[in-house]
Amino acid sequence: MSALESACTIIKRLRDHGHIALLAGGCVRDRLLGRTPADYDVATDAPPPRICRIFRRTKQVGAQFGVVLVRIGGDELEVATFRTDGSYRDGRRPESVEFTTPQEDARRRDFTINGMFLDPLTDEVVDYVGGQQDLANRVVRCIGTPEARFAEDHLRMLRAVRFAARLGFAIEAETHAAIQRLAPRISAISAERIRMELELILTAATRADGWRLLRETELVNHLVAGVTWDEANGERCGRILAALPERVSDALAFAAIFVELDEPGVERACAALRCSTAVSRAASYLVRMGRSVQRGEVRELADVKFLLVSGHADEALALGRALASVDGCGSADVEALAQRAAGIAPEDYAPPPFVTGEDLIALKVAPGPRYREILDALYRAQLNDELTTRAAAEARMKQMVADGG
Ligand code: ATP
Ligand code: MG
Repeated sequence: MSALESACTIIKRLRDHGHIALLAGGCVRDRLLGRTPADYDVATDAPPPRICRIFRRTKQVGAQFGVVLVRIGGDELEVATFRTDGSYRDGRRPESVEFTTPQEDARRRDFTINGMFLDPLTDEVVDYVGGQQDLANRVVRCIGTPEARFAEDHLRMLRAVRFAARLGFAIEAETHAAIQRLAPRISAISAERIRMELELILTAATRADGWRLLRETELVNHLVAGVTWDEANGERCGRILAALPERVSDALAFAAIFVELDEPGVERACAALRCSTAVSRAASYLVRMGRSVQRGEVRELADVKFLLVSGHADEALALGRALASVDGCGSADVEALAQRAAGIAPEDYAPPPFVTGEDLIALKVAPGPRYREILDALYRAQLNDELTTRAAAEARMKQMVADGG
């Protein structure tokens, strides 16, 4: 059973019990656009306890907000009771909700294109907010007064950018102006939620449009504590984002916008966004290696192998290529490196070292800086194919120990 069929089953069952039930929100928008919805949300006048009695497998995720998860077939769908949101605290979350009519439920939603209902059994659209017209005109428009809607929930400003960029829509003029006025308030939203929106904006194929909208709405310099972009940098980042391949990881997207920072700067910026350590490390590695790749600095065979074994070679090459194209310095070096990397067999990326710490200890070199230096040099020589046997590596090691005194 597809997710849509599951949603239809839920809707029929609610109606059999005398309730109103409709598809709501993003899935309606996506279906009307001929896109496949990420998930299907059902809205109903049945209150949560009633939903739980009608369906066997339910989970009360946000019963106080009127949301129940219903498991059906292999799917888990959100079934939400029509509601209005109570007053907002700190521009983040409503403090309470009240159950109400579909009309009022539509009016609490953020944008007209997200505020429609659909009867999937008849394909009838229930539109109290002018969503169909805005879909046809391809605009993202707040339901109600934009300033008021952004003042009660600041995250909506980023959502407007995300939907506009992802759908290729414009942000309606008053909605746009309201974002510009309230943009600094986005910093009251938690870094995690800002990061999640940024990831959605910057990993989409439309990321350059998303970045342009972040700059035009002036949200951009309030997103990451301690990081701002001037005109020239903002413009350059947009061109880098546009030059990246269609699919990018979160780390590569952040590397592209933080490309002007040094490595500790990238890690601080990622930490400010509460990125995972893995993403933060990958982003700073990509910034460093992207630049090295662009400048043709990855020359030694050992360095090519280190890049390959990092697991980020393809993205470092992609960033290097994007930087080369944006800075107009030609990508011959990048392509040569890509070819060379492709010619190295995976088992040669990180072969076991010919000599190890134990061999050094046997020569009475204790662990420490010198010990590390010798091992690193020997391994680098091995990866460079300068040392091809254990005997040769041992001889070099003995030589180095003797030379080093
Ligand atoms: P996506 O395709 O990215 O999931 P979506 O439109 O389904 O987009 P969700 O975040 O899943 O967005 O939210 C579902 C619906 O809930 C939205 O379409 C909108 O009607 C409503 N909604 C979500 N967040 C807000 C918000 N911050 N303010 C008002 N309404 C919201
Ligand atoms: Mg959704």
